[in-house]
Amino acid sequence: MAKPTYYTRPTFRPTRIPKIRLAHWKPVTAYTRYRWVVQALVVLSFILVPQFKLLKLDLTNNQYWLFGHEVSLRIALQAVVILWLGTYFINFFENYLVGRLLCGWICPWGLLNRLGMIINHLLRRHRRRQVILTGANLLFSTAATLVVMNWMVDLTVLLQPQHPYFGYVWAALGGLVAIGFVILHRMGFKFCETICPFGMYLTVVTQKNSLRVVFDTRRACVDCGLCTQVCPMDLSPREMDFNDHINGGFGQCILCGDCIDVCQERMALENLPPPLRWNAEDEIIPLLPPEATPARQP
Ligand code: SF4
Ligand code: SF4
Repeated sequence: MAKPTYYTRPTFRPTRIPKIRLAHWKPVTAYTRYRWVVQALVVLSFILVPQFKLLKLDLTNNQYWLFGHEVSLRIALQAVVILWLGTYFINFFENYLVGRLLCGWICPWGLLNRLGMIINHLLRRHRRRQVILTGANLLFSTAATLVVMNWMVDLTVLLQPQHPYFGYVWAALGGLVAIGFVILHRMGFKFCETICPFGMYLTVVTQKNSLRVVFDTRRACVDCGLCTQVCPMDLSPREMDFNDHINGGFGQCILCGDCIDVCQERMALENLPPPLRWNAEDEIIPLLPPEATPARQP
């Protein structure tokens, strides 16, 4: 009797993965496309809000603005408190309902980490990779520090040696750039996992019923390892569901969607559905539909 075809183990194409950590930057699914758009809008709002004086506390000149109007320090501080509380509650409900989107979709620091990973990956064969990466991280840290300081000081003070706060503003800039550079260059996404208080809080409070990556065992996996390679949080997406949520589990996942993107790209080469998917997705296409399985002989 001829061997049924489904007993033949399929041979998949070999996958070549680079020796350096893979960085995925081309969105494959609508999910990652929206993520890039949201991250860009968040960064833009961080820059534009103080720039257009929608909210700005210029401590160097004792001037404060709210919605373009000069206001007293008390009103400006009240606006800051309302903004913080509003952000906290939105984040609380978002985390409760959806999951740890703050780190993967919103945090501008995560975006800088991601850019560093992409440069590191793109220049993996470049002789001067380390020098260029160091320069880029220094640039990112300086840009991030200037954006943050623009909320609290008048940056033109940096160009006014006669200003009483000239030295202080330069000292703050130098100190913050140095700290930011060390964090970006030495820690990358490890910072989100081990030092960032928001990250640690979200690891603990994230619930299993929120959005999370699942490994659908009914689908074929070619064991290429791309999902593990691409994960910025050093997780093993295929095993996340089986680990406790604080150590390598879904609590540490920042819902960036990169593992699902690479899995989709890789499995498209085999014309098969990706085994990694969101738990929100109901439609599951099994590798072998039930009707293809012949009935057992008694
Ligand atoms: S497991 Fe997937 S979605 Fe979660 S952080 Fe890693 S790559 Fe991103
Ligand atoms: S889950 Fe997808 S990306 Fe990960 S090893 Fe399997 S086929 Fe590759």
